[in-house]
Amino acid sequence: MNSSSPTLVFPATAPTLLPVNGDTRQFPVRRIFCVGRNYLAHVRELQNTENEPPFFFQKQREMIVQHGATVRYPGLTNDFQHELELVVALHSGGLNIPVDTANQHIFGYAIGLDMTRRDRQNDMKRMQKPWEVSKSFEDSAPCGAITPVSQCGLLNSGGLRLHVNDQLRQSSDLNLLIWPIPKLIAALSEQVELAAGDLIYTGTPEGVGPVQRGDVLEAEFDGLSRLRVTIV
Ligand code: MN
Repeated sequence: MNSSSPTLVFPATAPTLLPVNGDTRQFPVRRIFCVGRNYLAHVRELQNTENEPPFFFQKQREMIVQHGATVRYPGLTNDFQHELELVVALHSGGLNIPVDTANQHIFGYAIGLDMTRRDRQNDMKRMQKPWEVSKSFEDSAPCGAITPVSQCGLLNSGGLRLHVNDQLRQSSDLNLLIWPIPKLIAALSEQVELAAGDLIYTGTPEGVGPVQRGDVLEAEFDGLSRLRVTIV
């Protein structure tokens, strides 16, 4: 048998591919990291401690939902909430990346949603257990098309907004991030080895809240393509 093409006991999982604006090629997703508590007004609205170092949790790439698709309202919750976040997409990585070279690893940006079972998150916090059940589940990581840095430049400011059924729910500016993107990349690369295809959801501003079946969510960031999903 040819060792370069091993026979599989079942087909390998298909790659998760995101569209790239202005390019016929697509972006193959590797790992998904999310940042907790990265806008002060959101830290305060959930009554969390201020001035803590950034911390990270993961979702799986199969949990991505693309623009125009549906998000299934999950089981195990009566308080399914939206978190509007800028997503950073990497085309390279490494371990222990210095802050001053971190931006070189950024391929582009997208707007995304960190969908959350808020009631289960509150349970887990109270019990001092991991957040997994509240954050990592089917359809929990909607993400729009990626705009490359070559088109939009490096982002450290810009408005992000979420409308639910045409009502404005979240509105903030990227310049209010507690931990700017280069610091996030550097800190995360001390914890894991980053690589091409990784996505980082950079945290949500204030205004998080519940969604219901039938709701239409429209997320946008100045200069990036919008993300629309429907809860079913
Ligand atoms: Mn979040």
